[in-house]
Amino acid sequence: MCGIVGYIGKNNRAGEVLLDGLKRLEYRGYDSAGMCVMDEDRQQTFKAIGKVSMLEKKIAKSCVESNIGIAHTRWATHGKPSIKNAHPHTSGKIHLVHNGIIENYQQLKQDLANKGHKFYSQTDSEVVAHLIDEYNKKYDFEDSVTHALTEVRGAYALVILHEDEPQKMIVVRNSSPLVIGVADSEFIVASDASAIIQHTSRVVYLDDGEIAVMTPDTYYVKTFSGKNKRKKEQILDWNDEQAKKEGYAHFMLKEIFEQPESVSDALRGRIIAKDGMAKLGGLTEVEKQLRTIERIVIVSCGTSYCAGLVGEYMLEEYAGIPTEVEYASEFRYRKPLVDKKTAVLAISQSGETADTLAAIREAKNKGALTLGIVNAVSSTIARETDAGVYNHAGPEIAVASTKAFTSQLSILVLLTVFLGRQRNMSLTMGKRILSELQRIPKKIDQIFEGEKDIKRIAKKYSKYDSMFYLGRKYNFPIAVEGALKIKEISYIHAEGYPSGEMKHGPIALIDKDFPSVVLAPKDSVYEKTISTIEEIKARSGKVVAIATVGSKDIENIANDVIYIPKTLEMLTPLLMVIPLQLLAYYAGVTKGYDVDQPRNLAKSVTVE
Ligand code: GLU
Repeated sequence: MCGIVGYIGKNNRAGEVLLDGLKRLEYRGYDSAGMCVMDEDRQQTFKAIGKVSMLEKKIAKSCVESNIGIAHTRWATHGKPSIKNAHPHTSGKIHLVHNGIIENYQQLKQDLANKGHKFYSQTDSEVVAHLIDEYNKKYDFEDSVTHALTEVRGAYALVILHEDEPQKMIVVRNSSPLVIGVADSEFIVASDASAIIQHTSRVVYLDDGEIAVMTPDTYYVKTFSGKNKRKKEQILDWNDEQAKKEGYAHFMLKEIFEQPESVSDALRGRIIAKDGMAKLGGLTEVEKQLRTIERIVIVSCGTSYCAGLVGEYMLEEYAGIPTEVEYASEFRYRKPLVDKKTAVLAISQSGETADTLAAIREAKNKGALTLGIVNAVSSTIARETDAGVYNHAGPEIAVASTKAFTSQLSILVLLTVFLGRQRNMSLTMGKRILSELQRIPKKIDQIFEGEKDIKRIAKKYSKYDSMFYLGRKYNFPIAVEGALKIKEISYIHAEGYPSGEMKHGPIALIDKDFPSVVLAPKDSVYEKTISTIEEIKARSGKVVAIATVGSKDIENIANDVIYIPKTLEMLTPLLMVIPLQLLAYYAGVTKGYDVDQPRNLAKSVTVE
């Protein structure tokens, strides 16, 4: 998500270090940018909508020479991109920048409003400034921060200043990244090392639940409960380019590895465990209308289309609502038969996909309720749909979608539980799905332990010209997505098919030079999938199987096996796709292609 930078030191160069840092963090978000610098006598705050260059223009030469300051480049989660919603946020003499999501901000906001606090923005972040300010009536700066943190729930990295203590900066980390750069006469804190590496290679990574109190000379770190922590400095041997990718060779790989975090972010604050219910704030206004919906049509393109296909299985099986998935580009050229009992759901990472937008407009015109699952806040699709849910996955830089896909799937699970519980889904079932869903991020991490094996297998199969990706039921859409991914990244011709369709034609292609990736989790169709593998083997085809841990039998028939952890059948797509992303990535890398920007493709397809 967004990028934050802080500077404190003995040199009066806060302004320039912060601006430079923001430019380097801009890939993390560019909805707005802002900066606050101080000296003994005054404080200056600058804000601009859009890119950092807009902020730079605004600041021009009016920035005071200062040795302390904070800055932010925003990727909006709560409140549209606007000057009011741009960070830093202020309450009294407190100024702060925030990266993350404050889960209980509504409650806190209400309490603080009752105490007379006036809110300026729609953001969740602003409440933290007010909360610290409220405690500051009784406590000093440092204690106000620690007290406030006991009340805040969610993910946050914060850098905080107090006008009365212009030689102190407080930095907090809980589930959002933060690094301290240690230079000779200054400290730079930032969301990642790309804003630090040009000043120093000595860094200290804060851990969750830690606070750093910094002055121009020194700093110390303590836990939220006040225990002092001795932190070890690390030396980064990255160049500038590597730093932007946090040491990963490509954005795609970085984004693949971000998925435990982006799935957690999609779920944050959206699960009411005791009620087995999903809380989707963006749907509150249409909650009643959703009870009357008798049919869902999902419209989307590319990877989002594959997410929609998974959604179809989930929504029909668990919410009992007839669901269809349409290529957005085809939807309006047919005669879409929708009415007010139909919800047309658009899934789009960018929220600007022209085909999807056109489909939504057509559906609206025909009187359907339109919904969106969108990553980019305030994008056109987010604005034009009647209601929707944001992914909160942060910007996706690599052209081939990875983390946006798993976050779309996570939201489709939440939506299924939400609509299912409005209808026939039992409390027990709701609880079961949601508690298993919360375990997914850890399970994705477990798959990463097998990265070396996946890399080896990718290398081995990257020499083939064509491949099949086969799956049944919940994993048929994942076969389509896996094939799409390897096409995009490694230019291998691949077809995603339902396993059962193989024998009706495509099997004619199988020979020793035409391998298949077979998705074979231990689910209700496992035996049938094994038969598919046998059929391929009988025709000398090679098979890479993706199976559930413990399915040892499969090693006897498949040529190569990659394992994923066990989970509920409906959630297997969330795990199954991870090895497929890595296979595509490493096949592309082996062939020496530009995996972040594959030929002929663009990130947000705004033409029809
Ligand atoms: N939730 C905050 C906002 O919407 C911070 C967003 C972020 O971390 O990108 O402004």
